[in-house]
Amino acid sequence: MENCIFCKIARQEIPANIVYEDKDFMAFLDINPRAPGHVQVIPKSHSRWVWDLPEDLAGEYFKVVRKIALAQKKAFGQEVIHGRIEGKDVMHAHFWVYPDPATIGEKTDFEGNSQKIKNNL
Ligand SMILES: [Zn+2]
Repeated sequence: MENCIFCKIARQEIPANIVYEDKDFMAFLDINPRAPGHVQVIPKSHSRWVWDLPEDLAGEYFKVVRKIALAQKKAFGQEVIHGRIEGKDVMHAHFWVYPDPATIGEKTDFEGNSQKIKNNL
């Protein structure tokens, strides 16, 4: 969609701290993190809700979410990783994946936190 902020991130028209990308999905740091390394996982093609994705992509979507969660566990030494389906703030399907807010670290160290996740993918 033309004016969708997450579509613009997916097309790399606006910057984001991207931690993972493949042909269908992208994962990047949330700009208002709940914890160090808070990631949004999105489908690259516009979909209003996670539930609107074609069935054959739904499993692939969760594989990416899982990959990010496992990287966060290692990157931040945190056993508790939260996941939430969101969509009222930005009208493009997104899945929050974030270490527990008790995680030690600087939430707004976007460069450092993205590197930690990438190093553990
Ligand atoms: Zn969109």
